[in-house]
Amino acid sequence: MTLRTSVKSWLALGALLGLVSVGVPLGHTAGEGPRFVLGDIIVAYKASATAGQMDRARKSVGALKVERITRFDRVDLVRIPAGADHSRALGILRRDPAARFAEPNWIHTHDGTVPNDPSFGQLWSLNNVGQPINDSPGSVVDADIDAPEAWDRNTGSGTVFVGVIDQGIDINHQDLVGVVGNPGEVADGLDNDGNGFVDDVYGWDFVNDDNTVYDGHGPKETLADSHGTHVSGTIGAVGNNGAGVVGVNWSVRLISAKFLGVAGGTTADAIKAVDYFTDLKARGVNIVATNNSWGGGGFSQALRDAIERAGAADILFVAAAGNSSSDNDVTPHYPSSYDNASIVAVASFNRFDALSGFSSFGATSVDVAAPGSTVLSTTPRNTYSYFSGTSMATPHVSGLCALLKSQNSRMSAASIKGRIMSTVVPTPALAGKCLSGGRINAYRALFNTTRQDP
Ligand code: CA
Ligand code: CA
Ligand code: CA
Repeated sequence: MTLRTSVKSWLALGALLGLVSVGVPLGHTAGEGPRFVLGDIIVAYKASATAGQMDRARKSVGALKVERITRFDRVDLVRIPAGADHSRALGILRRDPAARFAEPNWIHTHDGTVPNDPSFGQLWSLNNVGQPINDSPGSVVDADIDAPEAWDRNTGSGTVFVGVIDQGIDINHQDLVGVVGNPGEVADGLDNDGNGFVDDVYGWDFVNDDNTVYDGHGPKETLADSHGTHVSGTIGAVGNNGAGVVGVNWSVRLISAKFLGVAGGTTADAIKAVDYFTDLKARGVNIVATNNSWGGGGFSQALRDAIERAGAADILFVAAAGNSSSDNDVTPHYPSSYDNASIVAVASFNRFDALSGFSSFGATSVDVAAPGSTVLSTTPRNTYSYFSGTSMATPHVSGLCALLKSQNSRMSAASIKGRIMSTVVPTPALAGKCLSGGRINAYRALFNTTRQDP
């Protein structure tokens, strides 16, 4: 019998047995539930079954034996004719006296860990499945940081801290509750941790020189603190809490150093903010990085020195490359263009896998790109907003620093930066636009691989 006639008679036998069904795509179940290879059945025979009984069982559903799967047991992979009714054949085999059990040949995929936050589907930066954003189509599948795949390994930890040097943070936002806090301080009128700041329970407001890091409510209510709240959500909006969005970390701790007011912030206050975290780290707070989604102003030796002090304390300084579409190698943008080794300068890419139009860049002065266009995150009073900018790209990197630190508490700042740089996805649009030539990828960073990401 030739192969052709063999297959033909096999199909005919299936039809004869009334097993034929139509309209079910290969490799999928017809409805909900896990996927399996349509036509494949794994059947285990009893130890007492004879060769003849096993043959009869298989032939009762018109199946061909593909192979014995294991040499340790009488378990075969068999295949019923194309179009045959899979569940019916499965039932027949399960009832066969020669069979111990029969089951589908399931399809296992690495589809990652997905939280239940209802707006997760809008977060293309974490998981780009080609979804439209704001009704605008065209998102490029996998132009993202592969967060669900990274979350298979680690979703972050409340023992890791990121300093947010920015506007203040709405500490009462439903997706930031419990996230912001200085662990050494309580609200009792005393400077419990002895850092010179009384009741800096959530951080410190260097604009108003007080401990209220959130001033968005009341007579001053403007867009103040929306930017700081937004970047905070990207780093660590609470994950899997059934509300809103999720950050790069499902859990992490943030401390606010507010130095940007409605009219911006000064170099003096920026230095105080950077030193605030350097000092907290010396007091035992596990600060891995500060997030610096800000820029402008000229060169400041004093600020550069402050960043150097933070670097010596093993704190990375993650900084936005700027939004002037310009080459920072030619026209420096501070603070991202300072030459401190601890700086990670961040350009922005968009959901079309291109450098964002606004993003500054620099073959040597910018390190990586991260998602920064139309990023949905937390804004004051339990709202959520889309913002765009290298400001939005930066917290994706800060968040990844924290994720790496929570996976391996021994990683130094330098090794975290090195890991992020060495595991980028090289992207044509970013070649020559940043030192690594690619966009960050949380999966590759956590698994320390440059394998094709899933
Ligand atoms: Ca204090
Ligand atoms: Ca206190
Ligand atoms: Ca949430």
